[in-house]
Amino acid sequence: MRLATLRTPNGQRAARIEPDGAWLLPYENLDELLARSDWRSEASQPGTGPLPGAGLVYAPPVTRPSKIFCVGHNYRSHILEMGRELPQHPTLFAKFANCLAGASDDLVLPPESVEVDWEAELAIIVGRRCRRIQAGAAQAAIAGFTVANDVSMRDWQWRTPQWLQGKAFEGSTPLGPELVTLDELDNPDDLRVTCAVNGKPMQDARTRDLLFGPNQLVAYVSTFTTLEPGDLILTGTPGGVGAARDPKVFLQPGDLLTTEITGLGCCRNQCTEER
Ligand code: ZN
Repeated sequence: MRLATLRTPNGQRAARIEPDGAWLLPYENLDELLARSDWRSEASQPGTGPLPGAGLVYAPPVTRPSKIFCVGHNYRSHILEMGRELPQHPTLFAKFANCLAGASDDLVLPPESVEVDWEAELAIIVGRRCRRIQAGAAQAAIAGFTVANDVSMRDWQWRTPQWLQGKAFEGSTPLGPELVTLDELDNPDDLRVTCAVNGKPMQDARTRDLLFGPNQLVAYVSTFTTLEPGDLILTGTPGGVGAARDPKVFLQPGDLLTTEITGLGCCRNQCTEER
């Protein structure tokens, strides 16, 4: 199944995305749908529609997750190329719900940063409340995957050893367009993650290179906190970010940031100046 939260003239609406368009479900957003233990059968109800695909406006699939976790240093090849040792434990940090932006929203560059950088990432959407779940059972707690870009203000991120202030600018994290359940994917353990700026390829990797995969991350995080339906885990970014280039490259007003994962879809975000 492919599910989304759409912005309609009457407000947000959860929808199932079919080849013929969007079928509206009687829920405001996927947060509300996923909160039901029977969300899979609710999402399979016929719904109202279809709304043609061309006119759809996507909100982030989940709009107010209770928790957003992100992982640093998680692609083996990128860690090794940076000359680092493979870490024993995931490097975790957090974001807030108001960091999220829709798949086609403008990416508003804040005037306080001159080093706005991209980080294409696979995002996990939690589908079931869980605590201390084992990695072998964790897949059942995953509602699906979506595309994210952990856009990072490097000049703020590296002010201190803790990265929060450079990772939590409001509206800086494109997410979407859809929640894709794992049964839709031929090989959910090996997805191609790419990022381009103005059509120029910047990142290109496969999720089989993740040091800590989705099941391990769900298990690890659930050891110390209860994961709730709609919570997010962004799994980390591969090599090719702007700050690691020579010379460094950062996003400028007018740039088009494209973040794509094969089988999941694409975020296209136009960079604009904050007015
Ligand atoms: Zn990241």
